[in-house]
Amino acid sequence: MKIIDGKSTAFETCEKVRLRVDSLLKSGVEPCLAVIIVGDDPASRVYVNNKKKKCAAVGIKSLEFALPAKTTQGELLELIEQLNKNSLVNGILCQLPLPEHIDEKAVIEAIDPQKDVDCFCDVNVGKLWTGNAVFLPCTPAGVMEMLRQYNIEVSGKNCVIVGRSNIVGKPLAALMLQKNATVTVCHSKTRELASVCRSADILVAAVGRAKFITADMVRENAVVIDVGINRDENGKLCGDVDFDAVKDKASFITPVPGGCGPMTIAMLMQNTVKACEIQNKGVLKNE
Ligand code: NDP
Repeated sequence: MKIIDGKSTAFETCEKVRLRVDSLLKSGVEPCLAVIIVGDDPASRVYVNNKKKKCAAVGIKSLEFALPAKTTQGELLELIEQLNKNSLVNGILCQLPLPEHIDEKAVIEAIDPQKDVDCFCDVNVGKLWTGNAVFLPCTPAGVMEMLRQYNIEVSGKNCVIVGRSNIVGKPLAALMLQKNATVTVCHSKTRELASVCRSADILVAAVGRAKFITADMVRENAVVIDVGINRDENGKLCGDVDFDAVKDKASFITPVPGGCGPMTIAMLMQNTVKACEIQNKGVLKNE
């Protein structure tokens, strides 16, 4: 069994981003990500802080807009409109979940697709499925990049994804399909889940339930990617995979923490620098 070190793959990705940022800065262009957080959800606060820290590490400017929980949908949409119009802001990210009185879909769709560095809006999701993606969805792209860096072939493999959310399961299916995998997406209504999981050469867990994937669901020598972020019975961070039981069966496995999490942020950095490059094409060409 080999542990896939998401911190080191993220470091490699961020080093490449840093070089692209340096070259933009030399041309007088400063990449900038606007991060919006509404309310005081502690997990959201941790994610936002991590994203800001990584921006600073690669040289991307970050602007934080911390709004109170009682912010109205209209006020939030107004802020997004201003950021859409601001040519110095290249990427806009609104940390989810939002308070219940705000319609998440309306907020996602309000972000200019050219600045939608999370790749959540319908335009960017459509481009992803037709093979014309500008931005890649961060968590799924992070999974693909880890596989690439570890030389794990995807083409022709049976890939089973447990979870069909719009931010992980579905877009990951699109990326794996593009790399010629045979993809099965499972969810809460899937029958014979354990048996489907055992058919996987590459098994991805994106369920949101601590230690949900047990050793009997994993084929000998499968590659196991754990996207989940949960707390176990002792309040300790853990994934969707029962790591201790599964690790000896898997050929490769990602740990939690230190697997998919760091890669998600690295891909956000990559999308932000790409957004900046695209938005400043004219300026850069006239050098
Ligand atoms: P969602 O809650 O949106 O989706 C969970 C999926 O799991 C759903 O499709 C659901 O099925 C499925 N599911 C739930 N119970 C079962 C079951 N018993 N059997 C089979 N499938 C089941 O979660 P997300 O996709 O947003 O996140 C998944 C996990 O990944 C979470 O732990 C989250 O914290 C983590 N995450 C980690 C990120 C990272 O950077 N590492 C980024 C994003 C998320 P159905 O559709 O039928 O309800």
